[in-house]
Amino acid sequence: MLIVYLILSVFGTCIGSFANVCIARIPQSLSVVSPGSFCSECKKSIKFYDNIPLISYILLKGRCRNCAAKIGLRYFLVELISGAAALLIFSYYGISLDGLFCFIFFELLLIISCIDIDHRIIPNILSLPGIGFFFAVSFFSQSITWQASFLGIMTGGIILYIIAFIYFLIRKVDGMGGGDIKLLAMAGAFIGWQGVVFTIFLSSMTGTLTIIGMMLSKQKLNMKTSIPFGPFICFGAVVYLLFGPQLIRWYLY
Ligand SMILES: [Zn+2]
Repeated sequence: MLIVYLILSVFGTCIGSFANVCIARIPQSLSVVSPGSFCSECKKSIKFYDNIPLISYILLKGRCRNCAAKIGLRYFLVELISGAAALLIFSYYGISLDGLFCFIFFELLLIISCIDIDHRIIPNILSLPGIGFFFAVSFFSQSITWQASFLGIMTGGIILYIIAFIYFLIRKVDGMGGGDIKLLAMAGAFIGWQGVVFTIFLSSMTGTLTIIGMMLSKQKLNMKTSIPFGPFICFGAVVYLLFGPQLIRWYLY
């Protein structure tokens, strides 16, 4: 059993390593497949033995072997989180299709969150195929029916689009980015309409608390400071995926 856990965590960290490539390259419209990993400073390609998830970062003390440029701690964290997520998700679902779908969903949200933090965008190239992919997944999943998936897409996408449109008519400014709406539609395809409602609720709450926290810590914050909302949506969706049904039951009864 221990060997299975070990393989799962190594698999997770490798996917995390690939997620790092996606986070760095997708916003620049670069291929995520070729060329292989290279240092963003000196552009020298990274040898396979310096590209081992988690371990290489520790051995090289977070620096490029060639030019000693610092490699962000986030590379390490994304690999670590991915390894832990693989372990948790597959222990919960077993080695199954549902486990795999759940892990893909998690990794996609992780990639989207990091890109949104870095660039304040949620690339359509991730969210739009994501909607189609998770709708297709519903036909094979034990956790969600295609009807529930369809309703989730509608709730996430269309209803929020209408709210955003009304908001725009009244205030003449965009309240919610189109990227956030597509992200919610994608999440809805996998967690259904209850999941979307839960996610909107939790993400607005955690988002608001974060803004209040930033104001209290006297950070320079004006109306134009944009805070990426994507990571809050992703957080809400993951919390729903893990604990949602229990939380709703606890709240209602
Ligand atoms: Zn370098």
